[in-house]
Amino acid sequence: MFIGHQAVAFAAKRVAPRTSLGVLMGAAMFLDLLWPVLVLVGVEKVRIDPGNTAFTPLAFDSYPFSHSLATSLAMAAVAALAYWVATRYSSGAWMVGAAVFSHWVLDFISHRADMPLLPGTSTRVGLGLWNSVPATLTVEILMFAGSLWLYTRTMRPKGKLGVWSLWTLVGFLGVAYLSNAFGPPPPSVPALAWVAMAVWLLPLWAGWVDRQRTAER
Ligand SMILES: [Zn+2]
Repeated sequence: MFIGHQAVAFAAKRVAPRTSLGVLMGAAMFLDLLWPVLVLVGVEKVRIDPGNTAFTPLAFDSYPFSHSLATSLAMAAVAALAYWVATRYSSGAWMVGAAVFSHWVLDFISHRADMPLLPGTSTRVGLGLWNSVPATLTVEILMFAGSLWLYTRTMRPKGKLGVWSLWTLVGFLGVAYLSNAFGPPPPSVPALAWVAMAVWLLPLWAGWVDRQRTAER
């Protein structure tokens, strides 16, 4: 899943308006921030295999650390605790933990049965939403639109910058999503991993967008 993860971050602001959208974005995408790093150092394996599912040309051969159920739960707990220690804001800590874990749940719904439960074991699970392009687009676009509606009702723009900064980010995410869905497969695994590293910029961008808005009314 792609914009479905970002939808979690936008929606979580409703529960934890004092937590930066940047932090929530980093939490919701944390597994995918870790993944290209582990691919680049050779710990996790991915193959380019057009037709692997209807939606993605990627075969996730091995990603036991970034995308197993057990490691996701552990990372969610550590992230929530770290956020709580830093801020003492319990709604925010719950949302940070929930956002990290939501990534595994949403990927479990999307991916074919390639998601490990525990590193070192062979059981793989996944419901395979990606076998249908129309179903994937419908679910993700509805999630994204619904979460944006919640976010704009929670966070009011401080001025013009508050308006266009958000919609620039939303436009970028939409274009990136559709070119991912309908563009050609990546030329090589290193090229894919380096492009995926660019996702590290999104939490920073989202944090800046969030500062142009306020929860006060
Ligand atoms: Zn993922």
